[in-house]
Amino acid sequence: MTDYANDPAVSNLRDYLQIRSVHPDINYDECITYLRRQAADLGLPAQVYEVKPKKPVLVMTWEGLEPSLPSILLNSHMDVVPVFEKSWTYPPFEARIVDGVIYARGVQDMKTTGIQYIETVRRLKEKGIRLKRTVHLSFVPDEEVGGHNGMSEFVRSDHYKQMNVGFALDEGLASPDDNFVVYNAERSIWHVTVTCPGKSGHGSLLLPDNCGEKIRYIIDKFMDYRRESKAKLDSDPGLTIGDVTSVNLTMLHGGIQNNVIPEKLTASFDLRLALSVNFEEFENMIKQWCAEAGDSVTYEFEQKDHYVAPTSVDDTNPYWIAFKAAIEKLSVPLKVRTFPGGTDSRFIRLQGVSALGFFPYRRTVPGLHEHNESLRVSEFINGIAVYEDIIPALANA
Ligand code: ZN
Repeated sequence: MTDYANDPAVSNLRDYLQIRSVHPDINYDECITYLRRQAADLGLPAQVYEVKPKKPVLVMTWEGLEPSLPSILLNSHMDVVPVFEKSWTYPPFEARIVDGVIYARGVQDMKTTGIQYIETVRRLKEKGIRLKRTVHLSFVPDEEVGGHNGMSEFVRSDHYKQMNVGFALDEGLASPDDNFVVYNAERSIWHVTVTCPGKSGHGSLLLPDNCGEKIRYIIDKFMDYRRESKAKLDSDPGLTIGDVTSVNLTMLHGGIQNNVIPEKLTASFDLRLALSVNFEEFENMIKQWCAEAGDSVTYEFEQKDHYVAPTSVDDTNPYWIAFKAAIEKLSVPLKVRTFPGGTDSRFIRLQGVSALGFFPYRRTVPGLHEHNESLRVSEFINGIAVYEDIIPALANA
């Protein structure tokens, strides 16, 4: 087994993983201090922008030979999801290496990627390489809670506009097989709550205008739609979860006591709309279901993402051509997919800028947000070499 203890890149990664930038109520100070030191080591200027109080975005900038050209953004988020520490074999913020595998919260999602960007720039600079376009490395807060106090705000700021971003790389997923997978789109997230009011009264009676009857109708309609999506996914091996609309019942509320019919019941659904869905028709369908369910049934959105056009993966997009050629050079098969969840890429795409989600980890089971999140150190090391091909290709496109 290779001894990784003396590899400075591995030490940098472990130091970053040991910072407890874990939800909720993250203090990002330690991340910012750490990243400022990294920027200083690289000889790059670092700017910190507070898009919201205590929500810093740090940007390192490596100026290109032609800085007036649109720039390349290498984005990663600093935050990680909570842990159930007792369920971990090794402490989640120790970043222990056991048999060539590093165990830590954030090792897949996605602190490793941030360090790989840094280590790639370090290697390129050490070789005396200069790139045509300016490369920015952004480290953003709060991706794991929707990005609303992070990238969503940042892309609308003057700082971001001044960066003149032409293309962004952001997070993908580890690939369990020999292929690389790149994500050029995401489904749109809708979080909807349906409220079913009715006549309250004694639990022994069969009163009219019953909230239970109404919510049964609503749940049936959503679950029927879910079943159709699942059948579609199961029937076609060419499809992945990102290609169909997912529907899940996530919360049920109502009631006060078992012999009292409540005055309302609510059901909440997590919906991820496939790119093929007509959003207006989909909402009209929900509206129709509410009307059919009975009197005064209403729906409300907690989140309703806009349609975001996918990044084009054809000959019209010079960044795609560069990315694809760099992967072809590595002789690794590449698959293009729609990302199953939501990432900060959607905010970048919404600004009309190309963004691809990509992780250079193969033969690795995606274990993000799980207990014992882990990654082989060799994937970290090899991934730097992959970025050493991709990043210059993009920045010289
Ligand atoms: Zn992530």
